[in-house]
Amino acid sequence: MKALITGGVGFIGSHLADELLKSGHKVAVLDNLSTSRLENVAHLEKNQDFELVIGTVLNETLVDKLAERCDVIFHLAAAVGVELIVKRPLESLTTNIKGSEVVLEMAHRYHKKVLITSTSEIYGKNTNGPLKEGDDRILGSPLKTRWSYSTAKAVDEMLAYVYWKEKGVPSVIVRLFNTVGPRQTGYYGMVVPRFIGQALKNEPITVYGTGKQSRCFTHVKDVVKALIKLVEEPKAVGEVFNIGNQDEITIDDLAKKIIKITKSRSAIKHIPYEQAYEEGFEDMQRRVPDTSKINKLIGFKPHHSLEGIIEDIVGYISNKNL
Ligand code: UDP
Repeated sequence: MKALITGGVGFIGSHLADELLKSGHKVAVLDNLSTSRLENVAHLEKNQDFELVIGTVLNETLVDKLAERCDVIFHLAAAVGVELIVKRPLESLTTNIKGSEVVLEMAHRYHKKVLITSTSEIYGKNTNGPLKEGDDRILGSPLKTRWSYSTAKAVDEMLAYVYWKEKGVPSVIVRLFNTVGPRQTGYYGMVVPRFIGQALKNEPITVYGTGKQSRCFTHVKDVVKALIKLVEEPKAVGEVFNIGNQDEITIDDLAKKIIKITKSRSAIKHIPYEQAYEEGFEDMQRRVPDTSKINKLIGFKPHHSLEGIIEDIVGYISNKNL
């Protein structure tokens, strides 16, 4: 197949491009390089089956042209990272809502299958676990910018779902739970590359809040394989799937694990949320996916342990001298 990946120069998009090309598919990526680094796809430059288009998903003419000549669209272009969302909320809302609208409309125009990437932020402050796809969303005030990302992604999901229901656009929705791995930058807030970067420089590890909040981290390689399997599976159309690991760890323990693996001399420093983000910032205390739905349909099971993921990232950062 010929795949169009929006946001294909980014962390997840570039790994998806690698995996598709490895399986013999053709790939075009559309990316405006807003938060991504060209070096993520530099190794693909000479690959005949790879095409790079610099531009935005908000450019309808461009997305129209690219959608017409592909078989499937992986829509990954989005403003992500808690810090980015809190600092530039308007830009995030526009990219995340309008961008998906444009992509879905073009998928409709040319009858193309489309995979929409959503997020575990959808569940908001619901601390139940493991979270199932049909579970309730619990969100704070819309005037707290943190919730704008969850809301924008919920609009994307609704759009994808009704484009399928009303217009027959074959769409698949995935909710990603803390995807991590090489090429992810800590610049926009992501905790794992940030802690590893701090540990390698023996700088204080900045744990926000109490450090008792927990997350489950999944290797990007496990995630991109699942994305491809889902677009190849007809029964996935019109459905939403959690993708994640079920091994839960508190942020304090994550910091300790990273210090141990990197043999760092870093100390752990707790920073209040209002200092790290903004006044009144609300964090999710717990986020564990129920992955029985995706497991049943495509046999999804993450293969990489957190230790393995950390070692992979350490190797990447050390090689690149980041
Ligand atoms: N976090 C932290 N220190 C950092 C960056 C993040 O303690 O330097 C915390 C953050 O407050 C959250 C968790 O790590 O509780 C995961 O943050 P991330 O932004 O990676 O993803 P989220 O799950 O919040 O979308």
